[in-house]
Amino acid sequence: MDESPNFDGAAQGPRELEEVSSTRPIYKSSSPYKKKKTDKLNSETVVYLDFSKFCRLFGYHHTSLRHVWFVKDVCGIVCAVFTWLLILYAEFVVMFVLLIHESSNIYSLFHGLIFNCFTMLAVASHLRAMFTDPGAVPKGNATAEGIKSLGLKKGEVVYKCPKCISIKPDRAHHCSVCQRCIRKMDHHCPWVNNCVGENNQKYFVLFTLYICLISIHALYMAISHFIFCVSKDWKGCSGMSPPATTIFLIFLIFEGMLFGIFTGIMFGTQMSAVCSDETGIEQLKKEEREARSRWLSMKSVFGHPFSIHWFSPFSTPRFLSSDKIYYSV
Ligand SMILES: [Zn+2]
Ligand SMILES: [Zn+2]
Repeated sequence: MDESPNFDGAAQGPRELEEVSSTRPIYKSSSPYKKKKTDKLNSETVVYLDFSKFCRLFGYHHTSLRHVWFVKDVCGIVCAVFTWLLILYAEFVVMFVLLIHESSNIYSLFHGLIFNCFTMLAVASHLRAMFTDPGAVPKGNATAEGIKSLGLKKGEVVYKCPKCISIKPDRAHHCSVCQRCIRKMDHHCPWVNNCVGENNQKYFVLFTLYICLISIHALYMAISHFIFCVSKDWKGCSGMSPPATTIFLIFLIFEGMLFGIFTGIMFGTQMSAVCSDETGIEQLKKEEREARSRWLSMKSVFGHPFSIHWFSPFSTPRFLSSDKIYYSV
């Protein structure tokens, strides 16, 4: 094996140092097609937003709010806004069509409290999954100087991503939407307009869990209210006409069923991936990995040690770092 440090762009054999330093500019041709591609490569899909001034209005101040990760992808933004609208619709129907006209105040208070708590947790999980850097690798650091500064020993190699010119750590994959390499990338989810990776998988799992719970809860309340209305012959059970109430309820039942099943399956898949310490991409590629206990795998996603904070989207987990970027050959 070559004794000098090597760089490998893909799964093929190692490449030479000179090749890394000659990767920029990538497109030297002046053809319009290639020019367009160069522009796309140079334009940033990920921008850092400054929320600090906005949050200071509410008395909250934190330095991390100055550089908030945001993916500028139209499809993802539309899907994320659509998710908020669906939650808003469910909230409106549950509060103003169902619970406000229930005969028992205790029933309304109890279900209203539970539904709103889980809705708040679902929205918070969604926002944190969306605005958290999923574990992006610094872009363009695979230069000759950058690699030299790692001080590689004989027989050690690093992998280079040919698309974002970054030194690729173990288990990192390139996302074509974010145009970045993401540590422990599971998949890019348009519903949260972000990649699901090492830093935000906890929030994504919680998002699927809480959406599944509010879907089942809304389904239960909608069906029982429908039965209640029919038994009362639609008298005093709603502030609207029976057809309008029926339409609102049918849409809520449809939404609850659809998203309850979808997020339930997603939650199960995610938990199985977390327990087996295997990302979605690794499962597809059937990559062999060192076996780790389920408990340790869970802690590497939800934080260390186990506590009630595992279920809170407001607490940032402490990670067991996976910084490996060297490969021995
Ligand atoms: Zn990359
Ligand atoms: Zn992505």
